[in-house]
Amino acid sequence: MSAGIGITPRTVMWHGVAPDLSTRLIPVPSGRAYRVDWPPENALVTRGLAKELQWVLERFAMEAGFSERNPVRLFFKPGVVGHHKLGRAADIYAVGGSGLDRWKQHWDEALRRAARAAHLEESRAIVSEERKNNLGWRLYKALQVYGRWAQPSGYPIQLFGPWTRTEGPWKPISDRLLHAHRDHIHVAK
Ligand SMILES: [Zn+2]
Repeated sequence: MSAGIGITPRTVMWHGVAPDLSTRLIPVPSGRAYRVDWPPENALVTRGLAKELQWVLERFAMEAGFSERNPVRLFFKPGVVGHHKLGRAADIYAVGGSGLDRWKQHWDEALRRAARAAHLEESRAIVSEERKNNLGWRLYKALQVYGRWAQPSGYPIQLFGPWTRTEGPWKPISDRLLHAHRDHIHVAK
């Protein structure tokens, strides 16, 4: 099995699609309860992906307690390989002012504290507090639960991030691919 599995191979079916991509791609739009940080070139995607992201991000933001008056900020960066070449993928690097790597560190620390807790109730309280407050984890779970992402034949669902090994959907993710997504969440549609 190739170490790069999960990244779409060049040979996949989207050859010869869309001769003029620039006119067909749009920036991921901001919603009511979330704002996509400038510049728009960081997330130029197909309309299908923009729409899917918009509704999932809105739901994430609302459920996490954000609103029109107090929106949560999201920061994307452009990707280069696989689905990115056709605007079918987007990479989210930060949410609520912190990088996904920071949110993951915070998450790991909370789990270590929970493991050291003297009582089960204390341990559970630490975990449930973290699930409530960790926007990186919440974003990942919202994308996993509500999003409908690409799954090219023979490949896993195209949602990868710092939590893929523990939360799925593709728990057997290789060390290499997990490391490549230690600081961002990748989705493709
Ligand atoms: Zn990506």
